[in-house]
Amino acid sequence: MAQLSDDCFAFGGQLMTTAEALVLLEAQTESVTDVVTVTLVHAIGRILAEDIVATADVPPHHNSAVDGYAVYFRDLEREGYTHLPITGRVTAGHPLKRRVIPGEAIRIFTGAVMPNGPDTILMQEDCREHNGDVIIRSGIRCGANMRHAGEDISRGDTVLQSGQRLRPQEIALAASVGRKQLDVFSPLRIAVFSTGDELRKPGTRLATGCIYDSNRYMLIAALKQMGCRVTDLGIIVDKAEAVSKALAAASINHDLLITSGGVSVGDEDHVCGAVDALGKLHFWRLAIRPGRPVALGQIGSTPFVGLPGNPVAVMVTFLLIARPLILLLSGSTDIIPVHYKVRAGFDYEKKKDRREFIRVRLNMTPDGVPVAIKFPRDGAGILSSLVESDGLVELPENMTKLVAGNLVDFMPFNEFS
Ligand code: AMP
Ligand code: MG
Repeated sequence: MAQLSDDCFAFGGQLMTTAEALVLLEAQTESVTDVVTVTLVHAIGRILAEDIVATADVPPHHNSAVDGYAVYFRDLEREGYTHLPITGRVTAGHPLKRRVIPGEAIRIFTGAVMPNGPDTILMQEDCREHNGDVIIRSGIRCGANMRHAGEDISRGDTVLQSGQRLRPQEIALAASVGRKQLDVFSPLRIAVFSTGDELRKPGTRLATGCIYDSNRYMLIAALKQMGCRVTDLGIIVDKAEAVSKALAAASINHDLLITSGGVSVGDEDHVCGAVDALGKLHFWRLAIRPGRPVALGQIGSTPFVGLPGNPVAVMVTFLLIARPLILLLSGSTDIIPVHYKVRAGFDYEKKKDRREFIRVRLNMTPDGVPVAIKFPRDGAGILSSLVESDGLVELPENMTKLVAGNLVDFMPFNEFS
């Protein structure tokens, strides 16, 4: 298990671009979790901690892709019909134990091992049986309907690499090369709390001036979706001692601490001060909208991320900073979310030198091309905008004006699970 260096989040610059932030994270962060072995049925969603090398070809032998007849190609007439006697039968899992000689046709079924000799398989739909013969029409290609040994995987191939997240298809591939268990990284243990005197737990009565805590539920859900083990530390009041106490206690037995709120420079923003007093704080001012302030730091060797308070800013900074950091700490090598080009359905003017994330819904034009429709209200506190949106359009630093019809980068929210 690795440990992060003492000041791995140090950054001397003023405003930081998201690209700079990712480069810094990638260069400085590595997996901090142990490696455990799990059976295939428990591997879904885990991150692989070893390279998987095939010890044999897949498929292991030439076999039939169809139900039909195995023949020598040279026995087939160029024109008209060929009649061949059916002299054997071979099914999946039961290879023919003898060599087939020219002039024979072998009844064969999908997945059955190719008999020794024949080089071509005819689909049963293209043939007719009559009096023990198969009648074959001309026009079949040599080698048709065969699957070749090793056509999927060759012995010695590295089929999966350490750092890959295991989806159903990766697990199937591991099974296909005979692996019954896999080394994976342990889930990251993350402690989460919200800060703010105004916050109340859903289900309790709201006093005047209070709101329900929604960030914590968004973060816990996102973390669970990423396969993390989450400790919910609830709501911490805006008091330096309370924040300090919670951070110090949680830093002992977690791999990462995540908070929301209290990271601005207001009098009641105690999170940064607490981290600074307990360990090391590196305040990152990201050149983005929404979500500029993100605090990164360490308490002992445990990294800390302080996200903003406004829910939309939480979502954006979680996706941009916290998620890649969590993936790196979890052993994942694939940290950049996929973007797709879509057509903008709106005009927009923006400030140069900052990256903006616009909440959009995708509408389909009659010819099926997606067009991004901007959510009408911009506020960083408008949580319903995230529910109404399919993802974020990302407008780069150097852009100042977007015209409807331009192609833009779209990040779908469903990339983030
Ligand atoms: P702060 O960064 O603490 O000044 O918070 C910025 C804004 O986000 C304020 O309007 C807070 O009330 C709001 N906010 C902070 N934390 C939460 C939370 N956990 N759930 C919902 N809103 C929050
Ligand atoms: Mg606050």
